[in-house]
Amino acid sequence: CGIVGYVGGQSALDVVLAGLRRLEYRGYDSAGVAVLADGGLAAAKKAGKLANLEKELSDRPLPSGPTGIGHTRWATHGAPNDANAHPHLDNPGRVAVVHNGIIENFAELRAELTERGHGLASDTDTEVVAHLLSESFSSCGDLAESMRQVCRRLEGAFTLVAVHADEPDVVVGARRNSPLVVGLGDGESFLASDVAAFIAHTREAVELGQDQVVELRRDGVTVTGFDGAPADVRPYHVDWDASA
Ligand code: GLU
Repeated sequence: CGIVGYVGGQSALDVVLAGLRRLEYRGYDSAGVAVLADGGLAAAKKAGKLANLEKELSDRPLPSGPTGIGHTRWATHGAPNDANAHPHLDNPGRVAVVHNGIIENFAELRAELTERGHGLASDTDTEVVAHLLSESFSSCGDLAESMRQVCRRLEGAFTLVAVHADEPDVVVGARRNSPLVVGLGDGESFLASDVAAFIAHTREAVELGQDQVVELRRDGVTVTGFDGAPADVRPYHVDWDASA
């Protein structure tokens, strides 16, 4: 339902949680975050309100790091419980992905992954993406390229945002028939399903086009089609009142 991603000089966890708060008005049944820190990936997720996630984070704090993603879920596939909350990780937890929308061909992809020995931990349509990204990354070593390869196999409407512990300065996003906006800051970059999530930090935004993948770094972004063709990045100024 709500998606936030961040890479920059602030604590990613703080920026992501504040962003998720700005998206709460959309409604949701669970929430979760993942941060890259100390060469690894750490995640927390909870059914219920953001306050439940915040309680979990105060009981079991995550390490602080500059790169992170977050999600508020409105369940479509799988009950609204902790296991089905996003982010979803591969095994052994080097990739984390959050997703809005529906992956129509997930059952077929899930069967294929199970056949190849992947153990899936949730009932969601989303989790297949974490495992597919992990496989692609093992062969190409590039998260944006992995996202393009995986998106070419997906059917449905989706916004996806992912991080990989082996690319600790990068957040990757993709969209088909579902919104995703980039925020360009000074030495920091944002990704969100709605500009409301980052407008407190920057008003320079880029709308991701249909079937595009963005690679987000603190000093800028690179956008391509799912086919890898470079795409224009045309920033615009968000001029509506942040308090509206
Ligand atoms: N289909 C996904 C799920 O059920 C994403 C739902 C959403 O858009 O929040 O987990």
